[in-house]
Amino acid sequence: MASNQTALVIGELTDTGSLDSITGELLAAASRVADSIECLLLGAGATEAGQQAIQLGATKVHASEDALLTNINVDAMVEAAHQAASQINPTIVLVGKTLVGRDLAPRLAFRFDVPLVQDCIDIAVDGEQVVATRPVYGGNALAKIACSKTPQVLTMRPKTFDPLPADASKSGEVVQISLNIDASVQRVSQVERITEEQEGEKLEEAKIVVAVGRGIADPANLPAFESLAKTMGAALGASRAVVDAGWLDHSYQVGLTGKSIAPELYLTWAISGASQHMAGCTNAKNIVAINKDPECNIFKESRFGVVGDWEKVLPGFAAMLSEMGVA
Ligand SMILES: Cc1cc2nc3c(=O)[nH]c(=O)nc-3n(C[C@H](O)[C@H](O)[C@H](O)COP(=O)(O)OP(=O)(O)OC[C@H]3O[C@@H](n4cnc5c(N)ncnc54)[C@H](O)[C@@H]3O)c2cc1C
Repeated sequence: MASNQTALVIGELTDTGSLDSITGELLAAASRVADSIECLLLGAGATEAGQQAIQLGATKVHASEDALLTNINVDAMVEAAHQAASQINPTIVLVGKTLVGRDLAPRLAFRFDVPLVQDCIDIAVDGEQVVATRPVYGGNALAKIACSKTPQVLTMRPKTFDPLPADASKSGEVVQISLNIDASVQRVSQVERITEEQEGEKLEEAKIVVAVGRGIADPANLPAFESLAKTMGAALGASRAVVDAGWLDHSYQVGLTGKSIAPELYLTWAISGASQHMAGCTNAKNIVAINKDPECNIFKESRFGVVGDWEKVLPGFAAMLSEMGVA
């Protein structure tokens, strides 16, 4: 691709210091608009993870393992990203719409006095400009946005871009970037760290997701779906109505204000398919819906659907799985 754009991807690392999947997605997005794709990796493990970023499309990686750079210290991350972007001078900066990215990107844009385009699901070059596409009005319309100021700072919705296949033959530089981060920038400190116990598949990474909506009527019905998810090797997800009712924690929520997922199979039970819910699963390869209302929106988005009461459908579905030898 020949363009005059240079991209800086603000990559992310997992708690164990390996490359977080959002980094590959951002590199793939950057490859649509720029030849030169530089990647910033901050925190313990950045240098080693840099090679992986090269294989996924970065032309150069800037790493810093400064001890202040941890995911909970976004103050230091913003300072680092600002210093790095000032040195690298990209035309666009891509940030994940993640817990860290949502905190970092607006503050970075503010420091450069440029607009921030949030929650982008596509980017393309149009003449001299990068045009970003993002859902608006709760996902009911798409807006195309170009900014005249640079660097153009964008947050990209997770699971919208498939990472490029890792190419082990690719070589590129991983350099230590010189940053001057003073401990005084840090305005928060970690008091305690509580790691949520996670059983089974992680919702964002699962190949199969079984999701429940308000139509399951009672949290007492949840175990049946947890058991189904376990049988299918799936993660459990939910609509916001279920989460707002306190039946499941927010970490289960799929949608505009929840998680974005891209499973091979998204099996929904008694979810109406509001646009805000569908915003989180538009990249699911196959949506299968069970709902008693033939007019509900989710059937418009589904590959297969069953019009019926979930209480009647579920036993037969489970029996069929058992017959098929799905343990
Ligand atoms: C700014 C904003 C952000 C939002 N973000 C999100 C988000 O991230 N995720 C999200 O999910 N929502 C989100 N919402 C809320 C969204 O608009 C819907 O209200 C929500 O998704 C509805 O959840 P639901 O489908 O479970 O419930 P309902 O819309 O109440 O649907 C329940 C469905 O169950 C079916 N049903 C009932 N009984 C049975 C039965 N026995 N058998 C089979 N089917 C049955 C009904 O026909 C119905 O279709 C957001 C809203 C706003 C305004």
